[in-house]
Amino acid sequence: MQERVKELLARVVYPGTSKSLAALGMVQALRAEGREVSFRLVFTRSGDPFASSLKGKCEALLREHGYAARAEVVFAGDLERPLSLERVRHVVAISSGKGGVGKSTVTSNLAVALVGEGFRVGIVDADIFGPSIPAMFGAEGVRPCVVEEGVEPVERHGVKLLSIGFFAEPGAATVWRGPMASNALRQMIEEGRWGELDFLLVDLPPGTSDIHLTLVQAVALSGAVVVSTPQRVALADAERGINMFESPGIDVPVLGIVENMSWFTPAELPDHRYYLFGREGASRLASSRGLPLLGQIPIVQGVMEGGESGRPAALDGGPVAGAFREASRRLVSVLASLPGPGRRVRVK
Ligand code: ADP
Repeated sequence: MQERVKELLARVVYPGTSKSLAALGMVQALRAEGREVSFRLVFTRSGDPFASSLKGKCEALLREHGYAARAEVVFAGDLERPLSLERVRHVVAISSGKGGVGKSTVTSNLAVALVGEGFRVGIVDADIFGPSIPAMFGAEGVRPCVVEEGVEPVERHGVKLLSIGFFAEPGAATVWRGPMASNALRQMIEEGRWGELDFLLVDLPPGTSDIHLTLVQAVALSGAVVVSTPQRVALADAERGINMFESPGIDVPVLGIVENMSWFTPAELPDHRYYLFGREGASRLASSRGLPLLGQIPIVQGVMEGGESGRPAALDGGPVAGAFREASRRLVSVLASLPGPGRRVRVK
């Protein structure tokens, strides 16, 4: 069946040449199942003037021969991202200098806050040391469906999820080292059936590692968000993370800092704020580096409980939801203000 389709497509010639699209290598990812045919038409020139007429010609020819054909036009010049991310507007890395500062908590709550704002959101959990996204979304032990075209993300609270935790036995996280971890991250990104998303948040392991480089190479990131507590040690590590992203060769814009565990307010003293980890540390870091402070998230029992119960606290209203909503809005406006449409900000 595929041979017959190829034969037919070999009749379509690129205007001004005597060569067929197939001979020019422009027909890719051809799939023929019964009478259903799909393929990609790859043009090297961005915005090739013949793109839509050739697509129409191929589809019409196949239709004449009894096939239901669907061609997707792709411009190779735009292919800085894997095809799986073709319809993803922004890929944003969420990172921290240190473990335990609440990076995954911030990722999951930001995700549901963005969903609440009407955006389509996914998370790739690449934290090899403690992939906690499945637990935070009540998806522990879930195995995503592997279909022919890739891996179907698991959907919870309106967020599409793939986690390194879905592919490892519980407690086996330490086997995810070096190249294995990088490959797993690549696979989740490239083989995930992400579909149409406004934001894909990537929950990175703490610190700076190979996996950060893998991400930078595999994806044109829109930018990175750095999570830190106000503690001096955490801030020093956060600053190292900022330096890594901004270094030449990596060159990923840092979109802003989220300060987590900014203060504690006991239920019985709602007007009090106890600055357990120091005060305003992250906002000082943000202003010294000329970066936006995206938000300050207080220590709240509900945030921790939400993480354990599989229901991010930002879903349930109140001041925490407000803080994450604010942070998500700032993130959206920072992204909108980046120069574009460039390599990193592909506005569709
Ligand atoms: P990381 O991803 O940086 O390792 P986590 O997001 O897993 O950190 O958070 C570490 C622990 O701290 C978790 O038990 C989480 O529930 C708790 N936690 C994080 N942020 C808050 C917060 N703002 N209030 C209360 N508990 C929090």
